[in-house]
Amino acid sequence: MTESSQVSIQEKLPPRISRLEELAYNFWWSWHRPSRELFKQVDRTLWTTTRHNPVQILLGVPEERLDRLAHDPIFLRDYDAVLMELDADITNGDSWYTQAYPEVCESPIAYFSAEFGLHTSLPIYSGGLGVLSGDHTKEASDLGLPFVAVGFLYEQGYFRQRLDASGWQEAIYPPLNPDEVALRPVFCEDGDACRVISVRVGDREIHLRIWEALAGRARLYLMDADIEQNAPWDRQLTARLYGGDQEMRIQQEILLGIGGVYILRNLGIKPGVWHINEGHSAFMVLERLREYVQAGMSFEEAKERVQASTIFTTHTPVPAGHDAFPFMMIDKYFSHLWEELGLSRETFLDMGSHDGGHGGAFNMTKLALMMAGRTNGVSVLHGEVSRKMWHSLWPEREEKDVPIGHVTNGVHLPSWVGQAMNSLYRKHISPDWMTRQDEKVLWGRIDDMPDEELWEAHVHLKMKMFSTIRERARVSRITRAASPEQLLASGIFLDPDALVIGFARRFATYKRANLIFRDIERLKALIHHRYRPVQFIFAGKAHPADDPGKLLMQEIYNYARSPEFGGRIAFVEDYDMHLARYLVQGVDIWLNTPRRPMEASGTSGMKAAFNGGINLSILDGWWAEAYNGRNGWAIQPEEMYNDLYQQDDADANALYELLENEVVPLYYERDRGDIPHGWVSMMKESIRTVGPQYSTRRMVKEYTEKYYVPALREARELEEG
Ligand SMILES: *Cc1c(COP(=O)(O)O)cnc(C)c1O
Repeated sequence: MTESSQVSIQEKLPPRISRLEELAYNFWWSWHRPSRELFKQVDRTLWTTTRHNPVQILLGVPEERLDRLAHDPIFLRDYDAVLMELDADITNGDSWYTQAYPEVCESPIAYFSAEFGLHTSLPIYSGGLGVLSGDHTKEASDLGLPFVAVGFLYEQGYFRQRLDASGWQEAIYPPLNPDEVALRPVFCEDGDACRVISVRVGDREIHLRIWEALAGRARLYLMDADIEQNAPWDRQLTARLYGGDQEMRIQQEILLGIGGVYILRNLGIKPGVWHINEGHSAFMVLERLREYVQAGMSFEEAKERVQASTIFTTHTPVPAGHDAFPFMMIDKYFSHLWEELGLSRETFLDMGSHDGGHGGAFNMTKLALMMAGRTNGVSVLHGEVSRKMWHSLWPEREEKDVPIGHVTNGVHLPSWVGQAMNSLYRKHISPDWMTRQDEKVLWGRIDDMPDEELWEAHVHLKMKMFSTIRERARVSRITRAASPEQLLASGIFLDPDALVIGFARRFATYKRANLIFRDIERLKALIHHRYRPVQFIFAGKAHPADDPGKLLMQEIYNYARSPEFGGRIAFVEDYDMHLARYLVQGVDIWLNTPRRPMEASGTSGMKAAFNGGINLSILDGWWAEAYNGRNGWAIQPEEMYNDLYQQDDADANALYELLENEVVPLYYERDRGDIPHGWVSMMKESIRTVGPQYSTRRMVKEYTEKYYVPALREARELEEG
């Protein structure tokens, strides 16, 4: 099936523009603006209806259209320019990394994650963790790191969300058709059959097909159990992201960790360092220990090697959020292994044994912490929280000396900056601002940008957001006969001239999407103010098994569809990377109300900031270190309480006060030309401080300098004895 459709794109394309296929099959196009424009030129309608998927565009576009493009001088000029850049970016051996670290630049960095958010068309992510992995991969390519990523191809992806008339979330799992996505099966050396590896899971052998996705120079290998060699129930193992029970989960994690090592070995890739992104893939260390022991080393020597070359990033500040499996399950799946490792059952279990408050279990975070020589949390605050949480593993040390550092998360600027802002930055910051994005001095030039221009660009992006929201409402009216109430909730009555506050993220209860509804009368006074109205846009998915999260969503939906709020509260369905782009680029304020310190970092607020949105957030995660008193607002109650109810009250009160006394007045303070100069200067301060610092450019450089390169050097010294 796959082969035939590849042939058909190839057959369809006139030779003069045949490399469009190559471009469509490298997600590089998605963060390269002129490439996006090129595919838009191929077919504007398909560009919109496929939600920006070039493979589907090339499959769907009529041949006559392609023939015409092959003779269109303007298209050809753009085509040639794009391909020249593709070649320069991808085949050019010169990069930041090769220049800075020539002596280690040949050793691949392997990055394991259970989810990757590269693009909406490949729905193998659920939220922040996946988007971060995707952004990390893209940046690694931009900086020239020899990067190979490993994950799952979920046949049903993450679900598409719909709310029924009562606001209850329905999950739809449209099957992913790999032929319509920029994915290719990896073939065997003889070129005939697809490459398949086998992993022992308990007393079964699970066979995995390997797929490859390209992200610039980086490669992403995805495993897929949905093949004939597996029993029907085993084919489900890679069907869904975080589906099923604990038994399913441990099996998935065996595939990811151990299968992932097999895949790289099978492909002949020899990583110099191994990065475990969140504990899901921590079983990889077991296979690597086994390899060393089998090669004749003692367990202690093997451990030293594995530690030297392993990096672990933890993302979870809540004890219950860490994966842990009952010892019985570990017996079931690993009893063959401890002998091979030269360990007793006790010493084996000891690698992960931890009592997180609910009795002992085999904890994936502990396993990773013990076996990775370098570990980190994802913000300054989260580093502190993690050192405290895992202090018991290093009882002889003081808390501050627990060996868990931090690298604050960032976002991939080229993927998230709106076109209007990009043009403005090119004009007023530097034509090559994107390649110099982490130079702080450069961003200082934002102060010379005329307020009018920045405001105009922001308003333009805000309008694009509104037209996207309206178009979705129109479609739901036509295809699903949406009721007037549902239309009211969909956001079509929002006023583009009035203040818009966005809140979009996973509906986990700790994120407290309903905090703003704590005092309804006070909220109504803000929303219905005659001259200075306030509006809210909500979006986000709850995990399909998270009923409290779904109830929270229903509560908000009920406000949105209630005439009481007059259409000034909207809930936009099906939050994903596609919708996120429009929201983070279009809102005036990005609201974030997690229960501190449960937000390890958060990244959506960074995306909003580069696009001119202003953060209004609890001082948690990244904002606790980014907030400087002038670049946005911090929701800071006077006191901290142990009682959650009291804390919610205090936080809500602080939020109302900020809105009433600062946010709303500043937004509506205009000059004669209707420009809010005070607001714009806060936008500038936010862009200036967030731009160079909270990008994956800074983040991946930090991982490289603090973790990858020292690990590569240490591992090499050990190898060389
Ligand atoms: C950026 C992003 C996130 C991360 O959101 P936070 O709540 O800030 O962690 C989640 N989902 C999508 C689709 C995103 O684009």
